[in-house]
Amino acid sequence: MLQKAYRGSPERRCGMSKELKSCPFCGCRSHIVWESRKIGHAVQCRQCVALGPQCPSKSEAITAWNTRAGEKV
Ligand SMILES: [Zn+2]
Repeated sequence: MLQKAYRGSPERRCGMSKELKSCPFCGCRSHIVWESRKIGHAVQCRQCVALGPQCPSKSEAITAWNTRAGEKV
């Protein structure tokens, strides 16, 4: 019964396990994570609607978004 590990922000509720970096375009930290069997997974900024790379898994989509944020890993 330890399902309350998430801190309650909307973008964590969908089971996200990785931290999303702020948007490379507008710098906001509010994101949507798309999950579609057709287009795959992608992260999108809520504010400027920038869409990250589409990936076969959520984890890859998040990694791709973070990479795209321009910070060197
Ligand atoms: Zn943005």
